[in-house]
Amino acid sequence: MDRNYHVIAASSLFDAAPARMIPDSLAVLDRIRESGLVGMGGAGFPTWKKLSFGKGSDVIIANAAECEPLLEHNVARLRSNPGEILSGITLAMRQTGASKGIIAIKAKHTESLDAVRAALSAAGEGSSAFDIDPGIEIALLQDRYPTGDERAIVRDVLGTLVEPNEIPSKAGAVVINVETLLRLHQAVVERKAVNTKDITVAGEITGSGFGNDVSLVLYDVPIGKRVADVLDALGIRLADDARLLMGGPYMGGEITAEDCITATSGGVIIAGSEIQDEGPMGIIVCACGASEERLKAIVQEKGSSLCGVEFCKNAFRLPNGRLKCRNPGICPGQTQAVLALRKKGAQSVLIGHCTDCSNTVMQVAPKLGMRVHHATDAYMRAGGEHLIRSFRKTTVNTQA
Ligand code: SF4
Repeated sequence: MDRNYHVIAASSLFDAAPARMIPDSLAVLDRIRESGLVGMGGAGFPTWKKLSFGKGSDVIIANAAECEPLLEHNVARLRSNPGEILSGITLAMRQTGASKGIIAIKAKHTESLDAVRAALSAAGEGSSAFDIDPGIEIALLQDRYPTGDERAIVRDVLGTLVEPNEIPSKAGAVVINVETLLRLHQAVVERKAVNTKDITVAGEITGSGFGNDVSLVLYDVPIGKRVADVLDALGIRLADDARLLMGGPYMGGEITAEDCITATSGGVIIAGSEIQDEGPMGIIVCACGASEERLKAIVQEKGSSLCGVEFCKNAFRLPNGRLKCRNPGICPGQTQAVLALRKKGAQSVLIGHCTDCSNTVMQVAPKLGMRVHHATDAYMRAGGEHLIRSFRKTTVNTQA
């Protein structure tokens, strides 16, 4: 089941300058470059470069995993604009020479799936208003984090696990976020430069007229708009102890209301204070969740002392210092890390793990009398969602 969400067109909240028009005379790749389009899923890599490097690929995969909890703007667009997104996939296929297009989406997003299936049928019958390649298929994903990681998508859809220092092209794939594909269609077909971004506002959204169990999806927020202005327009008043996260509960970073919406903004999540814990507290760092620095900051916000730092065995450090997971979302076992923290005197443990690994921590830490916290807790609580703890594996029929 989808989380409840409500779509609001940002144009109903504030005036925005019309998008700059791209000259008709430009070739497709030049239109994309001229539009200023970058990966809107968070990476921010220029799309024209991604398509240029992807020449000779076999498949374009549309990343519609909507991996982070509380965020809904990608699946909302699939429901309201499936034709434009399929047109974006088609354009990406033609630019790279890929013969295949795949939309990778969680099986639980049933209404978005129905919309995509209807748009594909219309294309097959020749009744679509959009130019859509008939070879586009749907791949269903499990509802677990981090399904939307590029390498996890390639593994789950194509059956190939590329190395942490490799990119999807190693498996013949180019992975592109669905909002990027929508903007790709707008740049090439409608000739509009990119000047807006879809975001989700969730958490303590008191004053918006909705409960905190609803996510507010805002279409086309002007890039550069202050977060304070967005919240004001929605009638949201921040409590004195409010904290703001830009992005999803797992990978987002703390911001202030003075920060601005950018081309890679995904969510604005509002939470209150962290629940206190006397500690001592140990942390286990994951490659696909909160960074070591953010975990340490949360330990402080909880009023605890830090007694140890461990890393998930799957976390691999690249030469540039960044952590990457060897096999995203497949737990290598957390018992050793939990025992090591216990030995250092930890009475509680703070993790930022994927769902599978959180599950493993839960099989060990409580038996040792340790309290378990997750970096996402305050934001999940604020959004009226279950905390990331135990995870029941589901079997997904990949026959879309
Ligand atoms: S296996 Fe470890 S590093 Fe990989 S996603 Fe899960 S917790 Fe993170």
